[in-house]
Amino acid sequence: MRRVAELAETQVAQVAPAVRARGGELEAAGAVQLVRFAPQVVTAEVDDCAAHVEFTIVDDSLRCYCTCAAGRTGDFCAHCVATALATTRRVPVPK
Ligand SMILES: [Zn+2]
Repeated sequence: MRRVAELAETQVAQVAPAVRARGGELEAAGAVQLVRFAPQVVTAEVDDCAAHVEFTIVDDSLRCYCTCAAGRTGDFCAHCVATALATTRRVPVPK
């Protein structure tokens, strides 16, 4: 069973550079607050709760959901990128 962190990293590599850059800025600014952090489920509040992101694993692939306009249509938006980066950063530390 694959983990959110590993699949999220793959998604980040596929998004448009501008979205990736924006997500990187959000993450670097500490705008991501991980709410739930488990191998199969990650939820986060991004940018002072402006956006709520959920990652889940369904059928071995990553489902992402964000409350912003782009995220609601299923796009891997900047908030998702920021959450993915925060997630992969957390992974080397085993819990
Ligand atoms: Zn979003």
